[in-house]
Amino acid sequence: KPAIGVLALQGDVREHLAALEATGAEPSAVRRADELDAVDGLVIPGGESTTISKLAVAFGLMAPLRRRVAAGMPAYGSCAGMIMLADKILDPRSGQETIGGIDMIVRRNAFGRQNESFEASLVLEGVDGGPVEGVFIRAPWVESTGAGTETLATYGGYAVAVRQGNLLATSFHPELTGDHRVHGMFTEMVRSAR
Ligand code: GLN
Repeated sequence: KPAIGVLALQGDVREHLAALEATGAEPSAVRRADELDAVDGLVIPGGESTTISKLAVAFGLMAPLRRRVAAGMPAYGSCAGMIMLADKILDPRSGQETIGGIDMIVRRNAFGRQNESFEASLVLEGVDGGPVEGVFIRAPWVESTGAGTETLATYGGYAVAVRQGNLLATSFHPELTGDHRVHGMFTEMVRSAR
């Protein structure tokens, strides 16, 4: 079984652990560098990206996270996790850093201005069996992407699911729906990277 960690500093960690388990992965919570060393892939949960960023720095995890991602470890970020995987944020809070890795510019709380929270059916490239129900909660959108990226889904004219190599990011929260196809796609990415 692929060992997949969930970065457990803040956010909806439990929901991701359960979704990964359902896809046949061996999930674990990652709070320390030695726990990060032990996994084949990592999920960065939804939550609050400024808090996750500050805790990652305080716990000495930011540099190890950047090293693993740069070395090709598969990673998947939902919502706040998408922000953490973006090379650039348009409106960072002071002191907010990202792990980076996906050549994209992300706008935080972009959908939140009109709508705190909503759901939308999304056709997601690479996911069979019909549309995915996207849950958006103060969600970011992708303002622009670089040449090495693939946009897997759009909503309202903006990319909301992006892949670059072994890195995957969604604006929405598949961990909250009971539909494990997006986690299944990530578990397959981890399997084939091993
Ligand atoms: N708005 C949050 C942020 O900036 C993300 C919200 C979420 O993960 N549901 O981190």
